[in-house]
Amino acid sequence: MKDEDLSARYWNLKECTIPVGKVTIIADFCKGGEDCDECIRFCPEKILKLGEVSNERGFFPPVLIDEGKCTVCGKCQLYCSENAIFVEKVGERVVAPDEIAIGEENIQ
Ligand code: SF4
Ligand code: SF4
Repeated sequence: MKDEDLSARYWNLKECTIPVGKVTIIADFCKGGEDCDECIRFCPEKILKLGEVSNERGFFPPVLIDEGKCTVCGKCQLYCSENAIFVEKVGERVVAPDEIAIGEENIQ
């Protein structure tokens, strides 16, 4: 295998990008609160929290803490039994060094 082909197999961490998502919550469908917090528990970025405003059925839909951190992993959508939350990719952003587990000192 040629050198240039080999290099293509590894990430260039300086240019590593990650998807950015838009999260939509349909408050009226949600049964958040004591009955459900699945989207909150399964979000790996921990950017959802229980809202303080109830919907018409007395449930508390989640709210987004930091939309810019949604990676469009889709777990909230997958685990919601009420089809009350969904995500779509709206762009990409460069991953900050402190978001990379191996540390900045290993970026070449
Ligand atoms: S998983 Fe669905 S129903 Fe449950 S709190 Fe989240 S949005 Fe609401
Ligand atoms: S798509 Fe993933 S990162 Fe985005 S809000 Fe849902 S669970 Fe969190």
